[in-house]
Amino acid sequence: MREQSRDQYQAIAERLLSANHVVVSTGAGVSKESGVPTFREADGLWSKFRPEELANVDAFIRNPERVWEWYQWRRDLISKVKPNPGHYALVELDTLLNRFTLITQNVDNLHQVAGNEYVVELHGNIQRNKCHKCSKFFEEGSIVFEQGSLPKCDCGGLIRPDVVWFGEMLPEDAIQTAWIAAESCDIFLSIGTSAVVYPAAQLPYIAKDAGAFLVEINPEVTELSPLTDISIREASGVALPKIVAALKDL
Ligand code: NAD
Ligand code: ZN
Repeated sequence: MREQSRDQYQAIAERLLSANHVVVSTGAGVSKESGVPTFREADGLWSKFRPEELANVDAFIRNPERVWEWYQWRRDLISKVKPNPGHYALVELDTLLNRFTLITQNVDNLHQVAGNEYVVELHGNIQRNKCHKCSKFFEEGSIVFEQGSLPKCDCGGLIRPDVVWFGEMLPEDAIQTAWIAAESCDIFLSIGTSAVVYPAAQLPYIAKDAGAFLVEINPEVTELSPLTDISIREASGVALPKIVAALKDL
């Protein structure tokens, strides 16, 4: 068993080294070892909260105070955590490999904190804010919550976290970059995502259709698993440093 998995790491490292373009797509699982809860697991956020009351536009219009309360709680939680060995291994991959595109569904900014300079953020970033009406951006710390009132833009619109809610379009430039990368890569790694939220979940299918080698890193089987060439059933904070080590050994 151990031998077999060592072979798998070596096979992935060889593919990475010979690839012209490597694409990595991450989800909440990559941040779990940092202490950020995932969504859909038994101990995830959705077992404690009702997402339909929190992560959608109607919820914000109906009850912006409640939605802000949830995001302030998550923002506070995320501000206290640090990247884990999985995040740092992805920074190393970026420096070791020819062409490397990192796409994430995460909004926690941990890839950037670890040192990945360019990250395609499909679902926004919880640290940023924007006006719900005119989309003007507001830096963290530049908005004020006064007693009994929520922060507003000059245009009168309510300010909200710059994340993508259910039913909303993804940022056009991010989705376009991700699509082109998936179509043109030689190897695609899907890491720490349950692979059910579209359109992000479509990216590995696009890559596979275009001939890419597909790797999944996730302790659990997902809907994507039957399609993958190699599935590593380990935590990303364990598996990714092993991939970096195998790459350095080549
Ligand atoms: P998800 O909760 O649906 O799935 C998480 C996946 O990670 C599961 O398949 C689980 O088996 C796997 N996992 C658990 N521990 C792992 C580990 N140590 N290493 C590798 N994999 C592990 O999350 P998702 O697929 O990212 O869902 C997408 C939505 O959730 C997005 O909208 C995203 O913005 C949002 N989200 C983001 C964060 C964050 O920014 N950290 C946290 C929760 C949810
Ligand atoms: Zn505005």
